[in-house]
Amino acid sequence: MSVAERITPEVMLAFYRRLYPFKSIFSWLNQEHTPTRLFTHREFAFTLAGDVYLRYNSFNSADELKKQVCNLNPTRFEIGPVYSARPKDKKVVRPAAFSPKLRELVFDIDMTDYDSIRTCCSEADICKRCWTFISAAVHVLDKGIREQFGYVHLLWVYSGRRGIHLWISDREAMELTDEQRKALVGWMTVIQGGKEMHKKVNVRQGNRPLPPSLGSSLKLLGQVFSDLILGDQDCFSSKEGWESLLALLPQAAAEALDKLCIETRAETSEERWEVLRKIRRTHASPALEAAVEDIILQYTYPRLDAEVSKHRNHLLKAPFCVHPKTGRVCVPVDPATVDQFDPEKVPTVLQLLDELNDVSSMVTGDNGAHHSDWEQTSLKPYVEMLDKHVLAIMNDVRKMKRGVSDYSW
Ligand SMILES: [Zn+2]
Repeated sequence: MSVAERITPEVMLAFYRRLYPFKSIFSWLNQEHTPTRLFTHREFAFTLAGDVYLRYNSFNSADELKKQVCNLNPTRFEIGPVYSARPKDKKVVRPAAFSPKLRELVFDIDMTDYDSIRTCCSEADICKRCWTFISAAVHVLDKGIREQFGYVHLLWVYSGRRGIHLWISDREAMELTDEQRKALVGWMTVIQGGKEMHKKVNVRQGNRPLPPSLGSSLKLLGQVFSDLILGDQDCFSSKEGWESLLALLPQAAAEALDKLCIETRAETSEERWEVLRKIRRTHASPALEAAVEDIILQYTYPRLDAEVSKHRNHLLKAPFCVHPKTGRVCVPVDPATVDQFDPEKVPTVLQLLDELNDVSSMVTGDNGAHHSDWEQTSLKPYVEMLDKHVLAIMNDVRKMKRGVSDYSW
């Protein structure tokens, strides 16, 4: 039986009843202990078996949310914005009185957008090697967002299959309008254009230097390029990969490079890139140097699904949901150790329930209804990661409310 077939409604219900960390999710969204509008006016959308989709649900507390999740037993649920009125009252309030107000700033990075360059897997597959594309993206975005926008409350969450989400909970990020989100994402977007377009990087005017925000990422990306693109993925040894690279260089340099690679029998990406280094000396020009930088960006810069980030009312799968195909839980990921993260080692719902059964066979007189059963499973470090993140948000909110500044001198 496939994993997907083994994830029955009974399995999901047991997961929601005993393992899903509702309290932590509540605190993360609410940013305080007592329910505020950040939670009570928040939209939840449920996907039920048979593709039934229920939007505009809202709840007064973590317990109420848990009760309804256990009641509906969705295959997954999504989190939307904080509205000006309670989403469940949408039908009874004037349309003008119902609009999205606040929302975490979210980003979505998915392996799909790397299909044209990764060589180890295709389509739905992902392995530790292609995860390197995602971990490189996490490093660049995490650093870029902290440095350029000053946001500090960033939560990275594995999507359960082959991507990662970022949720930013800083008050200033929550308050961004759709226009501002669009501008911010435009600023972060370097890679665009569909499959038919060779050149996907368009961030400079003519051959002028890169904007400083990118220039500072280039060193990190250069390392990723060398290790991942030239080394592990060997992107330019296939005929197709090689032609894609040549198409990105000025014509004279491309022709000289192709010729010299044939003459010297340079076949691997590393050998061919070494030949390009020679060409850069013999055919030195600002246009060629700009093209090389753009190539590094094109192959390594995070590829964002911009639509997800632009609108406050976009719904995004809640952390700790279960991916229906893989059974893996959408766990938080620490950007500091994202290189060691292995998507294939993320606990599945079946594994967690097994662990729980081992434990409950040792205890008696418990119907399994209490809240912290996750503590007895390998879900524990992930919930603790979220709780630690929440604590920092709550501290900031408390300080802000008291109007206490950090000046201690
Ligand atoms: Zn792979």
